[in-house]
Amino acid sequence: MKNKNFETQAIKTQIQRSQFLEHSSPLYLSSSFVFEDAEDMRASFADEKERNIYSRFSNPNTSEFVEKICQMEGAEQGCAFASGMAAIYSTLSALLNSGDHIVSARSVFGSTHTLFTKYFPKWDITTSYFGVTEVDKIESLITPSTKVLFAESPTNPAVDVLDLELLGQIAKKHNLLLIIDNCFATPYLQNPIKFGADLVIHSATKLMDGQGRVLGGVTVGTAELIQEIYLFSRNTGPSLSAFNAWVLSKSLETLAVRLDRHCENALKVAEFLEEHEKVNWVRYPFLKSHPQYEIAKRQMKAGGNIVAFEIKGGIEKGRQFIDAIKMCSLSANLGDTRTIVTHPASTTHSKLSETDRLNVSITDGLVRVSVGLEHVNDVIDDLNQALN
Ligand SMILES: *Cc1c(COP(=O)(O)O)cnc(C)c1O
Repeated sequence: MKNKNFETQAIKTQIQRSQFLEHSSPLYLSSSFVFEDAEDMRASFADEKERNIYSRFSNPNTSEFVEKICQMEGAEQGCAFASGMAAIYSTLSALLNSGDHIVSARSVFGSTHTLFTKYFPKWDITTSYFGVTEVDKIESLITPSTKVLFAESPTNPAVDVLDLELLGQIAKKHNLLLIIDNCFATPYLQNPIKFGADLVIHSATKLMDGQGRVLGGVTVGTAELIQEIYLFSRNTGPSLSAFNAWVLSKSLETLAVRLDRHCENALKVAEFLEEHEKVNWVRYPFLKSHPQYEIAKRQMKAGGNIVAFEIKGGIEKGRQFIDAIKMCSLSANLGDTRTIVTHPASTTHSKLSETDRLNVSITDGLVRVSVGLEHVNDVIDDLNQALN
């Protein structure tokens, strides 16, 4: 029986109990599993039965984690990976051939961009990009070799929102695979499959773990596509470890309540920043001033935990602001219980030219805040004293 509601799915989706009748799923640290006899062994390798053979292929803990995400995203099947990047790399490598072409949003995660520009061209897989405000240009980028339409929404770090329904329509019309990196929204806030996505990818490292402990990734979608991706993973080895899967599956039990508070805090932080005299503008999907507010309202349950804003005074003021932060963390992660503040122009995106930065909405004074679960007044006080 499938559990109907998100919170129940997150808690009650559980692998079969062992002889000890444990309440909470145990950790299965075992690299391999035993066979009853020669016939069991033959049938297992012939894929005539579903069972665990070797933890590079599958493991009870990874199965539980994947089943939860499938239920949450409304997907048929899924495959877990050691990190979000392992998920993105393996998914595309499994499905694309030499000569294929990708049409991608320009604002994608940094390593995804590197994969598309530095590594895939080695195998003659090329990519064309569209900006957030250029969705009307997507169709002109499609060629007979185009196989995949790839995007994230909301985007990192500028928190732009892309119209998933529109992307779904374009993909369907041109017979492309629509692949959405749903990391910033999580399955609690947004389900891209509803809008026509064939595959949804997550970095589980961020809000899914939510406590800054482990790395993980997952791809979910149709059984047919996932089978290809699973075989690639099973043979190349970027599998999620049992320990990380166990941690992540536990984390999912509290995803809904954590996200409710993350979003409530982030909206308050965004509203505070919008009123501040040292701030030029604020980007948060559920602020009325967000350019894609209507789209965000249509496709997301709440605005997420990432707030971007532009501090007056450019790079220099951005750096001074970061130096004045006292309580919040300066870190490369996001989606943690701890609030994290970053200044992309002087750090993660400092190697890009100013034009390239502006192409992905990163102005010199842009600051990204991953709002955590501390008391929101303490977060606001810290941002306020640093701004002043
Ligand atoms: C962090 C992140 C990734 C990569 O995930 P890792 O688990 O760090 O490999 C991919 N996409 C987005 C949007 C991310 O924020």
